[in-house]
Amino acid sequence: MHQDFLPPGIAVLTGAGVSKESGIDTFRDAGGLWTRVNLEEVATIEAWYRDKKKVLDFYNDTRRMFRATHIAPNAAHAALARLEQEYDGEVTIITQNIDLLHEQAGSRRVIHMHGRDGEVRCMHCQKVFESDDDLTPASVCPNCISVGELRPNIVWFGEMPMHLEEIYQVLERCGLFLSIGTSGEVYPAAGFVLHVRRHAARARTVELNLEATDNKTLFHEHIYGPATEIVPAYVARVLARGWRD
Ligand code: NAD
Repeated sequence: MHQDFLPPGIAVLTGAGVSKESGIDTFRDAGGLWTRVNLEEVATIEAWYRDKKKVLDFYNDTRRMFRATHIAPNAAHAALARLEQEYDGEVTIITQNIDLLHEQAGSRRVIHMHGRDGEVRCMHCQKVFESDDDLTPASVCPNCISVGELRPNIVWFGEMPMHLEEIYQVLERCGLFLSIGTSGEVYPAAGFVLHVRRHAARARTVELNLEATDNKTLFHEHIYGPATEIVPAYVARVLARGWRD
């Protein structure tokens, strides 16, 4: 199809809720990995300077948890991959998740705004590397040979999310914005729906979540339930009938 005749794009924001039924806890789950630690002690730059071993051990554990054999993409990830394959226009997933379940399900246009599992960055030379190895305060940067400067390439609290310019461009040209499994409490992602309403005035906005979020009033449509049920059903509906009812 010629570029000029492509239907409007679909921008999909996902959060921890889309991976919940794959066995990865959200921030809020009682007893989940994230509630067993004080995030201030492991997910800030101050924490890293204060106690590198503690921070690196936490992310080594997180990576092992993500790679556990029972963690696999679920029906919601699969449905979003299907949407990208079968919809004639552009489908872009903007995920807050650091897991790689969207890619494992087959999605190709995935923007990891909070970084991603399997990448490390050198704080000295800023080079990013693919790596699944455990990091320690003695790890050596393969590029600049600095010792103890490698960290997970993940956005910590207080740091700027990645790829924001590209993300805002995707939001501004979309005709449909979906927000899936995200609490609407972590900014700037929580503000994306408002950005769409302001800059893509004709776009439809749909919230798919287990429960209503703080952003509820900014969405035209709300679909509540487990992601593995509501996302495949919604994708099937969009592919069959479009999104304007
Ligand atoms: P959050 O924990 O604040 O909110 C998760 C949302 O998902 C909640 O609104 C909850 O009601 C909903 N939810 C829970 N189970 C669901 C299900 N089965 N189906 C549909 N919705 C469900 O997470 P957030 O909004 O993504 O933001 C917090 C931060 O947490 C992000 O920065 C993200 O990077 C980080 N995080 C990532 C992962 C991951 O990579 N998988 C896991 C936990 C937290």
